Amino acid sequence: VKILAVESSCDETAASVVENGRIVKSNIISSQIELHKLYGGVVPEIASRKHIEKINYVIEEALKEAGETLDTIDAIAVTYGPGLVGALLVGVAEAKAIAFAKKKPLVGVHHIEGHICANYIEHPDLKPPFLCLVVSGGHTHLVNVKDYVTYEVIGRTRDDAAGEAFDKVARAIGLGYPGGPKIEALAKEGDKNAIAFPRAKVNDSKMDFSFSGLKSAVLNYLNHCQMKGEEVNKADVAASFQEAVVDVLSAHGVEAAVELGYKKLAIAGGVASNHAFREKMIERCKEAGIDFYYPSPVFCTDNAAMIGVCGYHEYMNGTRSGWDLNAVPGLKIGSR
Ligand code: ATP
Ligand code: MG
Ligand code: FE
Repeated sequence: VKILAVESSCDETAASVVENGRIVKSNIISSQIELHKLYGGVVPEIASRKHIEKINYVIEEALKEAGETLDTIDAIAVTYGPGLVGALLVGVAEAKAIAFAKKKPLVGVHHIEGHICANYIEHPDLKPPFLCLVVSGGHTHLVNVKDYVTYEVIGRTRDDAAGEAFDKVARAIGLGYPGGPKIEALAKEGDKNAIAFPRAKVNDSKMDFSFSGLKSAVLNYLNHCQMKGEEVNKADVAASFQEAVVDVLSAHGVEAAVELGYKKLAIAGGVASNHAFREKMIERCKEAGIDFYYPSPVFCTDNAAMIGVCGYHEYMNGTRSGWDLNAVPGLKIGSR
């Protein structure tokens, strides 16, 4: 079964052809980062306009690279939420047009369930049930993956998402957008033990997270230095901040898995591409005797291959979207 997948929920226009939910035949991503950088973050109106310009080329390229055509694929999968409404609408309208014209089944996919499904691409042995720690730009969730199409959120951030914290701290130390990769690069030159930033606990719960306190601690530290006329070592701030995030994420993730009796733990989303995080997870999962899974960086940040994998499982489960499929910016996990 060959799925053509389309993703346009934020600032990446992406298309992919995925076979049988595991084989990625093409994975084309047109990123708008250079454009949004000028404004220090994603500008929704500009994102929608760029998606419209790029989407046909991106799909054409994905089909070409896979050696397929709109006639040889079996179904179209598309992200319909969560995300920016105008951005989502471009992908949804495009997928509907193709499905209608070519009389192919249409399958709406949840973006975060897609991030989780990225783990299946390079781990043929990974099968549900498992626990997944989703750490992206807008979400920090502990998700119980019950089977290929059934998800349950069992923990979440009470305030900022992990990726959001990376982006905000990067802005505060003048690194610009997107913050994650820039903090990671600068952190390599700093001392992760230089500044003792707080590790927030939420009512001693292992299932929930909080990052706004850490973000405030970094901002306070910067203000304090400025008031005293001290020079800020940005590399030390980046390294110490990253260490605090990575420490809390990995500790909670692994403790939750142990407490709930999971033998398998996966990570997903843009922050999952962070090497300090991956290494800490490898170490702590090994100590706890838990099998650890993570996607290659290209499948962590937004892409359409993950949507193709998720779409395949939905398709096989009988999910079919109607011509009334709409963008749902606040779509909840497991809401089907
Ligand atoms: P969501 O998936 O929640 O809707 P999104 O699609 O914008 O949000 P992703 O594409 O999954 O988010 O990830 C982008 C986020 O990941 C950004 O916040 C970015 O700073 C962060 N990120 C990307 N690379 C890294 C990295 N190497 N280290 C830390 N954070 C990173
Ligand atoms: Mg993005
Ligand atoms: Fe995402």
